[in-house]
Amino acid sequence: ETTIEVAGLRKRYGPTLALDGMTFTVTPGRVTGFVGPNGAGKSTTMRVVLGLDAADEGTALVGGRPYRSLRDPLRHVGALLDAGALQPSRTGRHHLLWLAHSQGLGARRVDEVIDLVGLGSAARRRAGGYSLGMRQRLGIAAALLGDPPMLMLDEPFNGLDPEGMVWIRGLLGSLAAEGRAVLVSSHLMSELEDTAGHVVVVGRGRVVADAAVADLIAGA
Ligand code: ADP
Ligand code: ADP
Repeated sequence: ETTIEVAGLRKRYGPTLALDGMTFTVTPGRVTGFVGPNGAGKSTTMRVVLGLDAADEGTALVGGRPYRSLRDPLRHVGALLDAGALQPSRTGRHHLLWLAHSQGLGARRVDEVIDLVGLGSAARRRAGGYSLGMRQRLGIAAALLGDPPMLMLDEPFNGLDPEGMVWIRGLLGSLAAEGRAVLVSSHLMSELEDTAGHVVVVGRGRVVADAAVADLIAGA
């Protein structure tokens, strides 16, 4: 079972209620959009699913299990969270080799994902010189390393030029068509309406709509 399920997540940061009963399921075979304004709780939800942050209440399961209990997590769930944390003097390929090595994957897989995301010769240049779009591609390459059946990408459209937007929409569609469960966040519905078959709309830490894109647009 390759679903991502969150149920009744509550999370407080001091006075801020970041998650207030967040509940939804990401099913395989389609792109699920995760849409809402900045501060709605999208990143916090993803961090809780990945075990990077603890919820005060509720459950988060990937393939029916808590992320922390997975033996080879990159082979189950790939994630793009924050394209910021790179060591500037290392090449993109070096970053991927390091990550691959930590998961028992080899250089061949690294070169496959470099091709898949179109990093090209930039993979052998220092990451410190990368544009935001290049950092996004590198982050997506990292998410795909373990060929995981579940993916969570936080704002992958940020920093992409129009050509990059077309590219990532195609990539997301084909990853879902291969039977993966794909959750993609954006603060703009317009970035997702052509790609996501389904959207979970959130505000103030909870789900306000969970529907097929066609139904949401018809009902708007
Ligand atoms: P989104 O990803 O939808 O923009 P976030 O999950 O980043 O929303 O944030 C939800 C709320 O939680 C916001 O009010 C944000 O300021 C707050 N928040 C998120 N992370 C932290 C943190 N580490 N410390 C304090 N407040 C946080
Ligand atoms: P060297 O360049 O000497 O081969 P390594 O690649 O082995 O160094 O990395 C040394 C340490 O730096 C690692 O143990 C790891 O903690 C950290 N590191 C290297 N690359 C990354 C990365 N992409 N993400 C997080 N930490 C990294």
